[in-house]
Amino acid sequence: MRNVFIGRGMTKIVNLLFPLRCPVCDEIVPVGEGKACRSCRGKIRYIREPKCQKCGRQLNDEAKVFCSACEGKKHLFDRGVALYDYQSMKKSVYRFKYKNRCEYAAFYAQEIYKRLKNEIHCMEADAIIPIPLHVSRQKSRGYNQAELIAAHLSKLTGIPLEKNLVKRIRKTVPQKQLDARARQNNLKKAFNIKPNVVKLSKTILIDDIYTTGSTVDAVARELKCRGVGTVYFITLCIGEGF
Ligand SMILES: [Zn+2]
Ligand SMILES: [Zn+2]
Repeated sequence: MRNVFIGRGMTKIVNLLFPLRCPVCDEIVPVGEGKACRSCRGKIRYIREPKCQKCGRQLNDEAKVFCSACEGKKHLFDRGVALYDYQSMKKSVYRFKYKNRCEYAAFYAQEIYKRLKNEIHCMEADAIIPIPLHVSRQKSRGYNQAELIAAHLSKLTGIPLEKNLVKRIRKTVPQKQLDARARQNNLKKAFNIKPNVVKLSKTILIDDIYTTGSTVDAVARELKCRGVGTVYFITLCIGEGF
């Protein structure tokens, strides 16, 4: 696995030995084109305005404030934003999560920083917190994909990374196998916050995919029980607006 944080000179050498793969097409990126092929960048669909004021999903109706999922649900998080439309990047995220493409994290974080800089600034957060994996899953995968993005984003924004604050204490069934109600039950008592260390007032949770919001809600519940006032989230991908 590539070391996430290496110096600039070292990066050049590592790039020669292990050329970067493009997060979109997974081919080796042509020299001088950065972290993704120039031609692939145009294929990415970003979440644009109008957006749901709660979950950040793109809306197809200017007159609406919330998406229909948020209209019918009370969330425990305060608000969130998303970078990509899930459909346009789902293969990329799949490789990132399951095929050891940790190197994509630097590109994703750069993109988040570039496109959502204003939103991040307005959040005035004291900490960036990745949604944790259960220790056994992290061991078998070798890394937590949300933590990789969070670490890069913390460097770019200067907002401290809190990667050991939230623990996943229960091994849960993968959320994608469940419907909305089952997702909520699946996450009951799944997370735990390290006691007596939280002196945070505003936090940003980082996750890879937002579907119903039940994972972010479950962590937000625990953080707020420990006195965190505001819980925002940033997710790499979100499904289409409706
Ligand atoms: Zn490409
Ligand atoms: Zn919404």
